Amino acid sequence: MDPTGAEPASDRPQPPEAGAPVSCAHCRATAATPPLTWSLAVEDGTRHYLCDACARTHLRGIEGRLDPAWW
Ligand SMILES: [Zn+2]
Repeated sequence: MDPTGAEPASDRPQPPEAGAPVSCAHCRATAATPPLTWSLAVEDGTRHYLCDACARTHLRGIEGRLDPAWW
């Protein structure tokens, strides 16, 4: 692509699931791409998305330091 031979360094982070559809881990709402308003949590290497509505709801639980296992 670039005839000068300058290859892009690998220091540019690539979203592993860019463009992949995602679903809310709580209400199963889906989106073509992870909206910026959604929350992303990683547990045991698995990504869990929460839609903005659920994230807002769970924020109260998170602030209350409830065990995340309930959701
Ligand atoms: Zn949701």
